[in-house]
Amino acid sequence: MPWLTQLADVARATGFPVTEVGGWKTRGHGPQPSVEGVVCHHTAGSNDRHVVVNGRPGLEGPLSHIWLQHTGRIWVVAAGRCWHNAPSTSSHHMNSTSIGIEAENDGRSPWPQVQLDAYYALCAELCREFGLPASRVAGHKEVNTGKVDPHSINMNSFRSRVAALIKNPGTPIEQQEDDVPEVISLGAGDDQAVPAGGELAVRWHTEYTDDPPGHNADGVAVMAKAARWCIVDGLVKVRGLKPGTEIDVAWSRYSRDGKEFEDDAWRLSFRADANGRVESSVGGQFALNTKNQLRLRIINPTDAAAVVEKVTMAKIAMFSR
Ligand SMILES: [Zn+2]
Repeated sequence: MPWLTQLADVARATGFPVTEVGGWKTRGHGPQPSVEGVVCHHTAGSNDRHVVVNGRPGLEGPLSHIWLQHTGRIWVVAAGRCWHNAPSTSSHHMNSTSIGIEAENDGRSPWPQVQLDAYYALCAELCREFGLPASRVAGHKEVNTGKVDPHSINMNSFRSRVAALIKNPGTPIEQQEDDVPEVISLGAGDDQAVPAGGELAVRWHTEYTDDPPGHNADGVAVMAKAARWCIVDGLVKVRGLKPGTEIDVAWSRYSRDGKEFEDDAWRLSFRADANGRVESSVGGQFALNTKNQLRLRIINPTDAAAVVEKVTMAKIAMFSR
């Protein structure tokens, strides 16, 4: 394989800004023998393009084909072989068989979203150009012993984003889902009877949320818009029980249409106090998906009809991971 003089065009195909570093088309430790993989790095510094171009004491530049600035700008450094990964534990990710991307990051700071988006897009375009599957994109930490870069990036998630971009070039990059959950706050809103020896799925008359409705029109079902990890907290108040008798409170999963019971994801027993009341917080953690729904059930095996009070409420935080 000759000098990789197409790299600037490949970089521009991402739609992110590109700068060609002077002399890049003939910069390298000889031509690039082959391209069988891509290795992702962080520079462990900032404003350090000159290091990637010129090298550092003991290691002559260029160190990588590309320097990816924290702003998402792609700087094309070299068209020939670069000293970015030796010794490699993967034959597809040696200096002679792979492209190196050095992304500007000090090894501690959070990654700017725009830089990550550029990183995904650049890897996808490189894979397309060289006929590689996303599985050939590796973190330095995966193909060298003792390396930690790129820090805090889950390379499996990284590759799945690259794969999506290879499949659908030019589609807008899905924003990385962060740890901010969707929170649904629900209130019973009125008193609801639980028959003796029977049960009730709490009907939510009040939803305190700015997001699109997270519960169904029938009022009992909570739906996730995608696969979600849920942390729930219900504050349940029940009256009318005989002192000392027990009821169960359960977060239960049903089929999406509500017709079939799946399981009790979280179920606890509570004993009525001397006034025949249960007041308790019912928390839990479990997964929901697009094929099921969630209900808060009050199961009353006693021989006294009870009332779920209107102040009963629930908060459901849905996390993408
Ligand atoms: Zn590295």
